Amino acid sequence: MPSEFEIIKRFFDRPAKRALVGIGDDCALLRPDAGLELAVTTDTLVEGRHFLAGADAEALGHKSLAVNLSDLAAMGAAPRWVTLALALPAADERWLAAFARGFFALAERHDVDLVGGDTTRSPLLTINITALGEVPSGVAMYRAGARPGDDIWVSGELGGAALALAQPDRTRGFPALADRLHRPEPRVELGERLRGLARAAIDVSDGLAGDLGHILERSQVGAVVEYARIPKPAAFEQFRELERDCVLSGGDDYELVFTAAQPQRAEIEALSRELKTPLTRIGAIQSGAPKLVVLDPAGKPIAHRGGYDHFAAP
Ligand code: ADP
Ligand code: MG
Repeated sequence: MPSEFEIIKRFFDRPAKRALVGIGDDCALLRPDAGLELAVTTDTLVEGRHFLAGADAEALGHKSLAVNLSDLAAMGAAPRWVTLALALPAADERWLAAFARGFFALAERHDVDLVGGDTTRSPLLTINITALGEVPSGVAMYRAGARPGDDIWVSGELGGAALALAQPDRTRGFPALADRLHRPEPRVELGERLRGLARAAIDVSDGLAGDLGHILERSQVGAVVEYARIPKPAAFEQFRELERDCVLSGGDDYELVFTAAQPQRAEIEALSRELKTPLTRIGAIQSGAPKLVVLDPAGKPIAHRGGYDHFAAP
């Protein structure tokens, strides 16, 4: 079985392009470009909580990085550097090779350097990634930025990942749904292009109701969303009974929800065409208490669950 240092050397030590010092010293040494702010985020994926034991290693390598890049995108930051802390029950070389393949394929697409980490044995497979990005001063998008009268926009479609999670067998005929769940595409380019256009943004990791709720809390505003406007995968035609809960409260889609002033509509629609990424106006921010109202086509409120609590007892 390879040692800690053999694991690092064989699977993770690759030359960093943008770091003064990457893997191999006590710290990585990074120099952000002048005039840029550093955005920093971290996410932990724990076996049994965030993924099932035996989950595909290549998909895990992809997803553990993707969820971090998604947080940077939601802030408008360009991803630059990441660290990777792995706690593994065993040094399974096939698992490590597949994990690294998924991880580096996504890292290379976004020009992200792996500059450090930690490797240890542990009874439970746990993956922790910290990601650092750069954003020009003054244009990062905060959860607190929403104003009454803003439009509420969402990228892509919502609910597909939750449907794949709830119905792995019955959704086998829809591979795009399983991809959403296991290989989410972080909206990196969209996040960068929304700088100066969007006022508030968040990525949908825990469901629209919960995540838009964070914007409302932070901005101290309310919101009305028209359910019929929310884009959803066509597969829901065969899962009507699950649709509303998946679309409103299902997590793991990693789309961006953002608010923007109404005069920005034309520019956001042009951006949608340019990036070939659907951007859909689903509602509006209102003054008042931080409450989300979702209306059905008849104008009646739809009940919905809030976000997912990762600290809830198993
Ligand atoms: P230290 O004892 O100073 O914490 P380590 O022996 O843990 O250093 O790690 C040696 C080097 O390998 C460090 O540069 C560290 O950042 C890097 N490293 C360790 N594990 C990983 C990993 N899973 N992925 C990337 N880099 C790693
Ligand atoms: Mg260490």
